[in-house]
Amino acid sequence: MGYPIYETFYSWQGEGVHLGKSAFFIRLFGCPVHCPWCDSAGTWHRDYVPERVDKLEAETLAKLAAAAEPELVVVTGGEPVMHDLESLTAELGKLGLLRHLETSGCREISGEWDWVTLSPKREAVPVQSSLENADEFKLIIDNDGAIDEWVAFLSDQIDGRPVWLHPEWSQHSNTDILNRITSFVKKSGSPFRAGTQAHKFYQADTLDPNSANPSPLGGNPKLGY
Ligand code: SF4
Repeated sequence: MGYPIYETFYSWQGEGVHLGKSAFFIRLFGCPVHCPWCDSAGTWHRDYVPERVDKLEAETLAKLAAAAEPELVVVTGGEPVMHDLESLTAELGKLGLLRHLETSGCREISGEWDWVTLSPKREAVPVQSSLENADEFKLIIDNDGAIDEWVAFLSDQIDGRPVWLHPEWSQHSNTDILNRITSFVKKSGSPFRAGTQAHKFYQADTLDPNSANPSPLGGNPKLGY
């Protein structure tokens, strides 16, 4: 079985517990969630999808990743859990690569993972089994009520796992949002942490010529659907 590939590139993990580690990214094509501020709209949005999407076998992807000699491999999207990830994680594992998944958790997670980052989206909330498999949570704070909304959603699920609060990228200079995150973390402490998408400040991903041009919707509801 081949996996539809939007892009693969070598960079570093810009978010979460593994921030700053060298990472090979495999971004799979396709997403049913359709967030209005999606920063990877080329994986699903009719105005941004590429003319052609190649499929690559799991073994080929694993060899590409291994050739970069990264500290870890991040499988992302799009929404990777749309796909059966068993063979991809098996091939990555055969080559001794650490396998990290980034997902909204909107469907059950397949495959064997060393780390799962779950970022819930209100357009398609996570299923219970995915919530249980998460190693960390990433909450996208896109409006003044988003912290309360997501903390209530996760209330009895957190169980000590890190919960990152990230300003939605188009709001990363919005002091109201940033100050709300700061206040919440100061008040609540662990497991809540203030975060951001550090790789975007560095523009690290785009340094690899294999990376696709960024395609952010920027929170414009007219662009999401
Ligand atoms: S942000 Fe993620 S879950 Fe939301 S539409 Fe984009 S790829 Fe899908």
